[in-house]
Amino acid sequence: MSRLKLTLTANRGRALAVYERLYKAYPAIRCTLDYENPLQLLIMTTLAAQCTDERVNRVCRELFQTYRTPEDFVRTPVATLEEVIRPCGFYRNKAKNIRRQCELLLERHGGEVPRTMAELTALPGVGRKTANVVLGECFGGQGVIVDTHCTRLANRLGFTRNQDALKIEQDLMKVWPPDRWTLFSHFMVFHGRAVCVARAPRCSTCVVEDLCPFPKTREGKKIAQ
Ligand code: SF4
Repeated sequence: MSRLKLTLTANRGRALAVYERLYKAYPAIRCTLDYENPLQLLIMTTLAAQCTDERVNRVCRELFQTYRTPEDFVRTPVATLEEVIRPCGFYRNKAKNIRRQCELLLERHGGEVPRTMAELTALPGVGRKTANVVLGECFGGQGVIVDTHCTRLANRLGFTRNQDALKIEQDLMKVWPPDRWTLFSHFMVFHGRAVCVARAPRCSTCVVEDLCPFPKTREGKKIAQ
């Protein structure tokens, strides 16, 4: 077997072990956006760019009391929408995108959120990350959701050597179990916030420390694959 295939096989086994450990560490894990339907999740993921999920949840509690359907958003002047979502930052752009998303849902999809990557990413402000969240959470699909935490952890765990989101997604699809892509992505976010933080990862208390090459490379030791 070639060295590349051996590494891939070893990484698949390691990924499974990492998954099992994180599953035990975070048994009640779920999406941290409090949505009730696909439209709400689409809008919340749009608002979550450069903003915390906590703030998006707070803003949307008010937002969704008034706006429940695509028609509600389309009928509303952009300036009014901007005022409500202002705390989420980049509110002018986000308000414009949300309103246009809702127009397109009505024009192209009968007012429903579409269920394919191509249709979702054709909406303004929707990239692969947002589309994978919606597909994975609402439509029983599986998607690798690559955000800043996933990028950092996937590199430290040695599952990728890329910084580009699409390349990371492709690398992770090769080593993560396909039926667990969405949940694995959530684990990356939770573990990245709680333990594997950006500046000083808490490796000595990490449940996957023995499966992770990062502490060994930090100490200048050889990585065992
Ligand atoms: S061992 Fe350290 S670098 Fe590896 S996942 Fe845990 S905290 Fe992150």
